[in-house]
Amino acid sequence: MRLFERFETPRPLGSGLMLQPTGLAVLEALGLYPEIAALGSRVDRLIGTDARSGRVVLDVGYRPLGREVHAVAVHRAALFNVLHDAVVAAGLPIRTGFTIEALERSGGKQWLRASQGLEGPFDLVVDALGSASPLKVDAKVPSRARPLTFGAIWGTVPWVDRGFRRDALMQRYRKASVMIGVLPVGRQRRDGPELAAFFWSLKPESFETLQAAGIDSWRSQVLEHWPETAPHLQAIRGFEEMTLARYAHHTLQVPAGEGIAFIGDSAHATSPQLGQGANMALLDAAALAGALAEAGSIDDALGEYARLRRWHVRLYQLLSLTLTPFYQSDGQVLPLVRDVLVSAIARVPPVPWLLAAMVSGQLLSPLKALQLETESLREVAV
Ligand SMILES: Cc1cc2nc3c(=O)[nH]c(=O)nc-3n(C[C@H](O)[C@H](O)[C@H](O)COP(=O)(O)OP(=O)(O)OC[C@H]3O[C@@H](n4cnc5c(N)ncnc54)[C@H](O)[C@@H]3O)c2cc1C
Repeated sequence: MRLFERFETPRPLGSGLMLQPTGLAVLEALGLYPEIAALGSRVDRLIGTDARSGRVVLDVGYRPLGREVHAVAVHRAALFNVLHDAVVAAGLPIRTGFTIEALERSGGKQWLRASQGLEGPFDLVVDALGSASPLKVDAKVPSRARPLTFGAIWGTVPWVDRGFRRDALMQRYRKASVMIGVLPVGRQRRDGPELAAFFWSLKPESFETLQAAGIDSWRSQVLEHWPETAPHLQAIRGFEEMTLARYAHHTLQVPAGEGIAFIGDSAHATSPQLGQGANMALLDAAALAGALAEAGSIDDALGEYARLRRWHVRLYQLLSLTLTPFYQSDGQVLPLVRDVLVSAIARVPPVPWLLAAMVSGQLLSPLKALQLETESLREVAV
């Protein structure tokens, strides 16, 4: 087995992300949960406030699923380091500086063509190259990623207690055209400072204009909507400290092809509004590993992998596509529905439970299918 990576030195990209109970269960099965929990920050709720009225229009907690059910927000570097250390400890060889361009097949085997040469033969290639993977054309039914209208700029800032809850992802909205978020992400290293991820939603093509207007002009815009973010903004000295993230949506009908399996964003990518992407990638990996361990042949394993993930992936892709415009769009109606109707219904049982199940990634019980339920997650009778 071998791992290939385009970067010369493997490294994380971007700021923070939320590990849901689904992703955490996979990390627990790998023996990596204690380290992630020690580095990350426990998140119990998501709170969204209307910037103009100060009214809370979204308040979703994990508590309806059980006392111990929660998410862990992490800095990407923390997750990357924990996974990378595990790969190194397992003795898995990593070839870096290898930019994969295509899959080649001959005699029932697979080769990887890169700008740096050809590697193979392999019985099975697992494509975890993300949403822009050049290997997606080798899927049984290829799909092309569709760019989404909105993206965001993300940065890492020091954690600030005043005005923010340590146990929550906090967001502020003005209709759906403005969305600002602050997520406590814990530490990159055990002895490092506490950090938060800070994001500002925008259309990627408007980033140039924003940069041209200068960082102070952007700071004033943010402060107008959320004055308590002043310490975060002070820590961002220039736009070079923010990463522009473009979002795209695609779902492979079958996450496999001849001698190839697709996991994570190469199989299905979407906007991060529901915070599921990395968790789905971990579930895919667990499903594929389980199928390979049980099945008699690679073909059977790929069929079983596709079966195990089919409905969970489809449901969450659909939910994400449907819900994103309520938070990121130019329209007036959807944010109004969100702020008036949805925020009222969200308090009526069993809606709090359903929302918690949705946000935690557990609709359709993906962990039961993979036999990954832990004691605390067993409380969830989804
Ligand atoms: C701003 C933002 C916030 C997000 N927040 C969340 C969140 O809160 N929770 C959550 O679960 N998900 C979140 N996501 C989604 C999550 O980041 C992705 O779903 C996840 O990273 C997918 O993992 P992956 O391994 O499939 O792909 P990637 O993370 O894209 O990794 C692909 C890897 O392949 C390498 N690579 C790419 N192309 C090549 C090539 N041609 N040759 C060799 N190597 C290559 C890359 O260098 C990289 O190491 C967020 C995404 C964004 C953009």
